[in-house]
Amino acid sequence: MPTTLQTQNTIIRDLYTEEHELFRDSLTDFVNQEIVPHHAQWEKDKMVSRESWLKLGEAGFLGLQVPEEYGGLGITDFRYNAMFTEVMGHSGCGGPAVGYPLHSDIVLPYVLHYGSEATKLKWLPKMVSGEAISAIAMTEPGAGSDLQGMRTSAIDKGDHYLVNGSKTFITNGYLADVVVVAVKTNPQEGARGISLLLIEAGMKGFSKGKPFEKVGLHAQDTCELFFDNVEVPKENLLGEEGKGFGYLMTELAQERLVVAQSAISLAEAYFAATVDYVKERMAFGKRVADFQNTKYKLAELATDIAMSRVFMDHCIKLHNEGKCDGATASMAKYRLTDIQCKVADECVQLHGGYGYMWDYLVARGYADARVQRIYAGTNEIMKELISRKVLA
Ligand SMILES: Cc1cc2nc3c(=O)[nH]c(=O)nc-3n(C[C@H](O)[C@H](O)[C@H](O)COP(=O)(O)OP(=O)(O)OC[C@H]3O[C@@H](n4cnc5c(N)ncnc54)[C@H](O)[C@@H]3O)c2cc1C
Repeated sequence: MPTTLQTQNTIIRDLYTEEHELFRDSLTDFVNQEIVPHHAQWEKDKMVSRESWLKLGEAGFLGLQVPEEYGGLGITDFRYNAMFTEVMGHSGCGGPAVGYPLHSDIVLPYVLHYGSEATKLKWLPKMVSGEAISAIAMTEPGAGSDLQGMRTSAIDKGDHYLVNGSKTFITNGYLADVVVVAVKTNPQEGARGISLLLIEAGMKGFSKGKPFEKVGLHAQDTCELFFDNVEVPKENLLGEEGKGFGYLMTELAQERLVVAQSAISLAEAYFAATVDYVKERMAFGKRVADFQNTKYKLAELATDIAMSRVFMDHCIKLHNEGKCDGATASMAKYRLTDIQCKVADECVQLHGGYGYMWDYLVARGYADARVQRIYAGTNEIMKELISRKVLA
């Protein structure tokens, strides 16, 4: 991790207590030992190791909110989850900063909030221990932003659903042991025809594509999923049939906050690495840091980051109190991912040619950042949602 990260803060934060900061310290040690040294290899492998999931689980860092009866720590203070994403972001490792929080804070809540008792007992302990890696599959080759247009069907066959179709761009997809899949249980209907099924690796007819060759997030196994007459038992239905779209709309606010939190935290890492770099690099007999352009650029970025951080902390605080609405979460997702991309771009520029070399954090950041404006709802869709509240 960049050495100066903690000293670059230009604002006084009051989101976290001393206990949270102790959690930061132990998680940072873990990330420096178990994540950062392996990241370059994982980028070549196009995925993190299974072992890393087990180590995270063993250390107690997955599914913090899971109640003790399902194997978790029962920590209902979302600030710990936010801290997890923050520390992952500060490592600058883009793939892990997205994939692990997606498991704990985006997929797991569907099992926890809508799973039957049997489903919770079966999957939550394994999700906490890292034995079961999870993913969520909404997007299809022909339906992304327009989710209601999805075509993967789940036909009621009495004691099971017969699932046919495919999903694409699924984060954690290749390694996933269990996937929350949005399906049409009533293909005649739009939103009211959508249900959520838990589909398990190894079910007959469920197969996965190879991890995609992506612009960035190379240590992230994003792939296609195929369903060919998969018989999914009725007990794998999450919540009630036909209510899947409503569940997605409820849970997507947290997804957007998680993406926003990763965006600002990664941006802080790019910025800190750049401050270190310009203090060392010499040109025309002085440090790059001493050029007025560098100072002003850093001042601009520091201001963008500080304002983003204040808004992000505000959103986390609201969310922790159950008061962050969808439009506010969309504002954070849209604006902070835009700022992450801007910071990455300016940091590459301040590194000169080295900023274009993959060995440098800012080069990887430049590639990793771009997709943050696209997934979890594109930033155009975020503006659509914000405008609905503005005009209501
Ligand atoms: C690396 C990666 C990881 C992903 N992980 C997951 C995952 O884990 N699970 C999952 O389900 N999906 C995942 N996705 C998919 C992602 O959520 C979709 O790509 C995204 O929602 C956009 O859908 P689309 O690609 O079909 O684009 P489209 O919906 O075809 O959009 C194309 C363009 O049209 C614009 N547009 C569309 N509708 C409107 C509108 N109403 N108003 C204005 N503009 C509009 C969009 O903003 C975009 O600019 C991932 C994608 C990537 C690249």
